[in-house]
Amino acid sequence: MGTFEVKLEVVKGDITQQKDISAIVNAANAELQIGSGVAGAIHTAAGEGLAEECRSLAPIKTGEAVITDAYSLPNEYIIHVLGPIYGFNQPEVKFLGHCYEHALALAEKHNIESIAFPAISTGAFGYPFEEATEIALKTVQNFLSKARSLKLIRFVLFSDEDFKHYEEKLPSIT
Ligand code: ADP
Repeated sequence: MGTFEVKLEVVKGDITQQKDISAIVNAANAELQIGSGVAGAIHTAAGEGLAEECRSLAPIKTGEAVITDAYSLPNEYIIHVLGPIYGFNQPEVKFLGHCYEHALALAEKHNIESIAFPAISTGAFGYPFEEATEIALKTVQNFLSKARSLKLIRFVLFSDEDFKHYEEKLPSIT
């Protein structure tokens, strides 16, 4: 692979604590409302204005991405994507790929320089972690040569085990 202008990072942590990142990605639900996991953490940290703005954008479809303000979060934007429910929204591979693709395209459209992704669909939506990682990394890899505004793409993993898996796999795409 050639050298790209985009820096890729893997960190262990909380998606709501990415202070140096312009846009964080929410693993949302179709109604774009507070839920469990990532969506719960983001809505709680962002405050009520987020739920209100989201009402006018919902519902969204599987694989779709929409952008909002980040309210009380330390970021400029939140990009909300609806991941596939494993075993239900098929083909899952296509829908999960679309989440990453559409989030990246929306970031470019808004001239965003940095974005942080959680591991979409791997919590409540039941996507096997290793398969989801492969799709996430492959989709980001395919995007790299098209990047214009984006200079930093960060993957934020919640557990040690998930972090280690990403750390192990990231070099395969760089
Ligand atoms: P989905 O419904 O798309 O599966 P979840 O929010 O349930 O989304 O989980 C997606 C992934 O995010 C899981 O791997 C989960 O461990 C992780 N996660 C949960 N809370 C956070 C958080 N605050 N920051 C980053 N990752 C998180």
